Amino acid sequence: MTVGSVAVRTFESRRPEKSSEESQPAFGMAPYNDDPGLQDGQFYDPDAEYEPDPEYAATLAPDAARQRRERVGPTGRPLPYFPIPNPLANHGPAKIVAMCNQKGGVGKTTSTINLGAALAEYGRRVLLVDFDPQGALSVGLGVNPMELDITVYNLLMERGLAADEVLLKTAVPGMDLLPSNIDLSAAEVQLVSEVARESALQRALKPLLADYDYVVIDCQPSLGLLTVNALTAANSVIVPLECEFFALRGVALLTETIEKVRERLNPELELDGILATMYDSRTVHSREVLARVVEAFDEHVFHTVIGRTVRFPETTVAGEPITTYASNSVGAAAYRQLAREVLARCHAE
Ligand code: ADP
Ligand code: MG
Repeated sequence: MTVGSVAVRTFESRRPEKSSEESQPAFGMAPYNDDPGLQDGQFYDPDAEYEPDPEYAATLAPDAARQRRERVGPTGRPLPYFPIPNPLANHGPAKIVAMCNQKGGVGKTTSTINLGAALAEYGRRVLLVDFDPQGALSVGLGVNPMELDITVYNLLMERGLAADEVLLKTAVPGMDLLPSNIDLSAAEVQLVSEVARESALQRALKPLLADYDYVVIDCQPSLGLLTVNALTAANSVIVPLECEFFALRGVALLTETIEKVRERLNPELELDGILATMYDSRTVHSREVLARVVEAFDEHVFHTVIGRTVRFPETTVAGEPITTYASNSVGAAAYRQLAREVLARCHAE
């Protein structure tokens, strides 16, 4: 937190330095304090920019004590402070982000819903695009895809169909959805014979861009024509990686595909970042995988790391984002932190 231009750290009290882990408070972080005035037990610390959002920091326990001692975040790098974004006076044109990894179950859909909802909470107008014929994004937002007659498939294949015939409002204010269902799997085959088959989604999204600040595309788990369409439409890619042993397997193929799309179809395309998901700091394994990911991708890895929590599967059943389903949970805090990091990166450019 900052008071004026000075960063402030909050601790219960400043005890004499002790080296043993046991002497640290359980989660290493003091409770969140919104009061801009200095309270008992707080002190000014000019180096405090690395201080994470305390609520988010709890997701990283019990590693937090070590991180605080070493002044680093979970990725082992100094953790910058991502400010609460300013409200926007005008909206659009949208930045398009593809959530992409050809591996299934790595957190693409979960990250699309919750990054979108967190951006919407910060006053951004958000459009989520379900680009997986499984329709998991639609289900995760409480829509039954089987009941839909018109989906993103129709938007791709039928010239002249207005986008607002397909758009659905979600329960999150400012966040809309282009739903999909199994129909979309036909597009993969039908598009093959089309002219400019890789840019069908780009054409379909064009009329919508002025109304939104962010479009997030939830890709299917493959590197087929649908994913190439998403990469062609996108300004940047976020790659969620589950913190488990085979996480890096296949990532070379993915970065190669991104490179090819950049060379041939979309020279503007950037790798926004690698997002570590399902991180469990209690296991050495999770920590090792994250360290290897950081070794491989360095500054491309988001500082924000998403911890593993059963709250995420629960939200799918509830059909809403974690930011509304369990607004005070650490999972919600993590995606808010990600939204702030995404916005901070965007403004840094
Ligand atoms: P993908 O879209 O890449 O296939 P999902 O977002 O659908 O991946 O996630 C796969 C499963 O893992 C889902 O059941 C989801 O609820 C669960 N999940 C996602 N993120 C987390 C997390 N951080 N902690 C625990 N479970 C998670
Ligand atoms: Mg998915």
